[in-house]
Amino acid sequence: MAQILDGNRIRDEILSELKPRVAALAAQGRPPGLAVVLVGHNPASEIYVRNKIKACHELGIHSESITPPDSITTEELLETVRALNQRPDIDGILVQLPLPPQVDTKRILLAVAPAKDVDGFHPCNVGNLVVGLPGPRACTPAGILEILKRYRIPIAGKRAVVVGRSDIVGKPVAFLLLHQHATVTICHSKTPDLAAVCREADILVAAMGRAALITGEFIRQGATVIDVGTNRIDNRDEVARIFRNSPEKLASFDKRGSVLTGDVHPLDVVERAGAYTPVPGGVGPLTIAMLMVNTVASAERRAGIC
Ligand code: NAP
Repeated sequence: MAQILDGNRIRDEILSELKPRVAALAAQGRPPGLAVVLVGHNPASEIYVRNKIKACHELGIHSESITPPDSITTEELLETVRALNQRPDIDGILVQLPLPPQVDTKRILLAVAPAKDVDGFHPCNVGNLVVGLPGPRACTPAGILEILKRYRIPIAGKRAVVVGRSDIVGKPVAFLLLHQHATVTICHSKTPDLAAVCREADILVAAMGRAALITGEFIRQGATVIDVGTNRIDNRDEVARIFRNSPEKLASFDKRGSVLTGDVHPLDVVERAGAYTPVPGGVGPLTIAMLMVNTVASAERRAGIC
């Protein structure tokens, strides 16, 4: 049987390790501080931000959400970010994406002070990642590495294939694996014979946003499969096809109107992988945990602790 890599367990471990670090910072003067900028009323973004604030609250991290209206201009949002850059009590700044179309997202992300860039998206921190210097790493890729390390999945000398080349998942996870001495291949929508490339992987990371595209023929027997995809399926026939008429999944769909699935086929992976992250409950829980890690590490750096 394939081993399930339990993201909830790893998240809890990481968060409990952070508690004494937060307490030490508070004892030294003040707790770490995270500011989350949430523009407008995107329901999904509101849920993400609520969960981030809740995680801060549970750890004793000071948090505040700044909620400008949908009509905000790039200049106004730049002012908001610059003001947060200057605040001594704020160690981390997170601008929740997506931003409204009239706002220049790249300019906003560039305006975040690299030392407070807890998302790890600023080009300075991407550069730090590439050359292996310390600095905040993008949260989801960093979480994937935590899963692999804490489950003692060997990386050095292994063949890793990352499907997806986005700036927030595919590229950073590829560099993190490379720094751990994997031989890394990055695939994308123009990669010919994707299945054959994926079958070479000891560690296969799927980050495409394509429901259950990675089927059994993409997975080498015994490989470790990390499924980053989060796809909400709201078509009953599609749920029936992917889950091969599973009565539980169809009942779940009938109750909720949708079913969450990853980029990896949820049944094939169990048959072929040696270990895998389920969706939900795999990579997802690590993203907020690593945001907390980045916020605490930023506060420690700014306090001169490390
Ligand atoms: P993205 O920016 O849309 O990038 C998708 C990547 O997948 C692109 O590089 C694209 O190739 C590639 N791709 C798309 N279709 C493909 C195909 N048929 N064959 C091969 N490659 C293909 O997505 P993202 O932001 O990286 O997110 C990827 C998935 O991870 C999404 O489902 C997202 O919701 C999920 N996600 C989850 C978390 C979490 O916390 N669990 C965090 C972030 C993202 P091209 O570059 O050639 O277009």
